[in-house]
Amino acid sequence: VKNRSEQKMEIYSANMEEKLSKRLKLEAKLQEGLEKEHFLLHYQPLFNSKAEEIVGVEALIRWQEPGVGMISPGKFIPIAERNGMIVKIGDWVLKRACKQLKKWHQLGYEDIYISINIAPQQFSDDDFVHKVESILLETKLDPSYLELEITERATMKNIEHTINMLGQLRELGVKIAIDDFGTGYSSLSYLKEFAITKLKIDKSFVMDLTTNSKNLAITETIIMMAHNLNLEVTAEGVENNGQLERLKEQGCDTLQGYFLSLPLPENDLLKLLKIKK
Ligand code: C2E
Ligand code: CA
Ligand code: CA
Ligand code: CA
Repeated sequence: VKNRSEQKMEIYSANMEEKLSKRLKLEAKLQEGLEKEHFLLHYQPLFNSKAEEIVGVEALIRWQEPGVGMISPGKFIPIAERNGMIVKIGDWVLKRACKQLKKWHQLGYEDIYISINIAPQQFSDDDFVHKVESILLETKLDPSYLELEITERATMKNIEHTINMLGQLRELGVKIAIDDFGTGYSSLSYLKEFAITKLKIDKSFVMDLTTNSKNLAITETIIMMAHNLNLEVTAEGVENNGQLERLKEQGCDTLQGYFLSLPLPENDLLKLLKIKK
């Protein structure tokens, strides 16, 4: 007869096995998805707060798995980060997004920039700068229309490396936004050492902006600090008019969120650009 702790162990390991086999299946599918190009990008517009014009778009990856449907990046990006596949996926995103932007520029929307999410592993690879440089050469894209979003957490991993990488990227002429700002416990003293161009206020602060006066104080403070450091500020996750109005009053430069536009497939984004022009 098994004692209780042995029984517990069996249940525990059965769960672990199930989880592991699920993960392995997903990993195999991910590899296949990359080979068969089951990934696509959606583009969420960024609006300037003064005129509510589209000034840029953020590329957001989607995984369209046949027979399964759309799998959200929240599900597979963490797995791809764990097994290292994120680097290959990230290369694909960078190239795909730059080529797409070049197309829009050639169609006459030449003032729009693209913002691309860069995973910590991409950023920690010394080769990353060369990759960006060669994609810029290949697509003949003006570097100032490419913005890289790096999470606050990723910048804090190795400060020396971050300062070095950001310096090299800025020399190429690309822009750099700190994503999810306010959630990564960054030491504010590093902000002035980083060659960045934008802070992107995390949506958790925007969420209950109209009901929580503390969040109102936080967004106000981030916006003021960014401007004092000569940085642009974007707020993400704007879901209603109240949030929009508060952020405008506080002088936030660019706004993004479902209230303004969902992330859109390529064709729908083009339609929106046509309407807005
Ligand atoms: P993120 O970079 O912080 O992107 C913002 C997420 O919030 C996106 O989710 C977007 O669709 C969603 N969002 C936009 N407006 C609103 C809003 O008003 N309210 C709410 N609640 N959410 C809003 P998505 O597309 O599911 O992406 C989730 C995360 O996956 C991203 O967070 C990013 O960390 C990661 N991700 C997406 N695409 C890529 C990629 O190409 N490369 C890498 N490394 N990560 C990516
Ligand atoms: Ca982002
Ligand atoms: Ca974000
Ligand atoms: Ca996020």
